[in-house]
Amino acid sequence: MSLCNLNCTYCYMYNAGDDSYRRQPKRMDDFVRDALLQRVKAHGTNYGITTFDFIFHGGEPLLAGKQFFEQFVRQASVVLPPQVEPRFFMQTNGVLLDEAWCRHLGSLGIRLGISLDGPAPINDRYRLDHQGNSSFRAAERGLRYALESDSLINQPGVLIVIDPTTDPIEVYDYFQSIGVDVLDFLLPDATFDHPPLRISPGDTSYADWLIQIFDRWFMVSKRPRIRMFDQLISLIIGREVTSERWGTGNNEYIVVETNGGIEPSDMLKICGPNFTKTNVNVHTHELIDALGEELLSLHRNSHQKLSPVCQKCPIVAVCGGGFLSHRYSQQSGFNNPSVYCWDLLKLITHIQNRVYTFLPDEICQEADLAPISYEEALLVLADK
Ligand code: SF4
Repeated sequence: MSLCNLNCTYCYMYNAGDDSYRRQPKRMDDFVRDALLQRVKAHGTNYGITTFDFIFHGGEPLLAGKQFFEQFVRQASVVLPPQVEPRFFMQTNGVLLDEAWCRHLGSLGIRLGISLDGPAPINDRYRLDHQGNSSFRAAERGLRYALESDSLINQPGVLIVIDPTTDPIEVYDYFQSIGVDVLDFLLPDATFDHPPLRISPGDTSYADWLIQIFDRWFMVSKRPRIRMFDQLISLIIGREVTSERWGTGNNEYIVVETNGGIEPSDMLKICGPNFTKTNVNVHTHELIDALGEELLSLHRNSHQKLSPVCQKCPIVAVCGGGFLSHRYSQQSGFNNPSVYCWDLLKLITHIQNRVYTFLPDEICQEADLAPISYEEALLVLADK
C-alpha cells in the first residue's frame, strides 16, 4: 500500500522529503501482481531458488483490505509451485488489527510483525495519526489481539524505533509486561545530511541505550528473542547472517512498488527526493536484470562496497558498515562509515566482550574470539 493511516514524524516514506508516493497508485493492481509473480517464477526456476518471501509493507498494508491478501496468496499459490514455495509476511502498525484480521491472516499463512515504540508517552512522541492524535490505544489493542489470537501462525514480533532520550528499561519492561516474546530495535533513519537526534553532540547515546537492554537481557535464562542481539552474537561467533544492517552477506531483497517499479531498500528514500526511483519494472524487466541496476546492485553488495575507514575497522566482519542509507552524504555519496559508526563500534565491542567472558575458552578459540576494547578500536579508525 502506498498509503498510511498514521503520520509518524520519523517516517522515511512520507516525512523525509521524498514525495514520490503522491504519484504512486495507492494499491497494487492485479496486472502488477500477476507480472510480479511471473518474474518471481522465472527467477526461481532459472536460478534454483526454491523459496521466496513476500513481505507486505507500506504505508499500512491492512488498508489494502482482506480481499487483496486473499487473492494475492491464492494467485501466488497457483503460479509459483512446484518450482518456488512462497512465504508471506506483513509489517503493520496494528491500528486496524482485530480478531477477524488475525483469523484472516492466519488462514492465509501470513506472519505478522507490528510496529510500536513502547508505552503511550514514548510511542506517541512520534507515532501519531494525521490529526496529530495518539495511535497508542488502537495499536496496543491490535498487538494484544495478535498476542492472544489462536489463529495466527506465529507470535508477532514487535519492531521498536529507538529514541535515545527515553528510558530503555521502561521500554523493555513494558513489552515484557504484555507478553511480547520477539522484539527488534531499529536505529532511526538518518544520513550525514540529516543526522540522528543526539543527547549531546558526538555522543554514543544509541549504543548506551541498547547496552542497558543488552546487559539486562543477556544475563537471564528465560528471555525474549531480540533479533538485533541474536544476529550480532551469531556474527561475533563467526556464523553467517544475511541482514541489511550488518555482516558480510548480500542483501537479497528488493522493493516492488504499487506501480511495479523495482527499487532497492525504501530506507534509501531518506537520501533525497526520488532517490530510489529506477527505470526497472516488473512489466518490462526480469528480476536478474533489475539486480544489475546501479543502486540496486550497490544495495545488494553494500557490505562489500565499503569506505576506506570501514575497510580497516577491527569489527568490520560483524558491522559490515551498517545500513547503506546511514552512510550517505551529498558530499561523498556512500563513501563514508555509518553516521552511527561510534554507536556500532561501542555496541559491538561491548557485546563481543560479554560473549567472550561468558563462553568457555575452547569455544572462543574455535571461533577465533578475543576481547576488544572500544577505545583501541577507535584509535585504529583514527590512525591515518
Ligand atoms: S564500526 Fe564504523 S568503521 Fe567499523 S565497519 Fe561499522 S561503520 Fe565502518
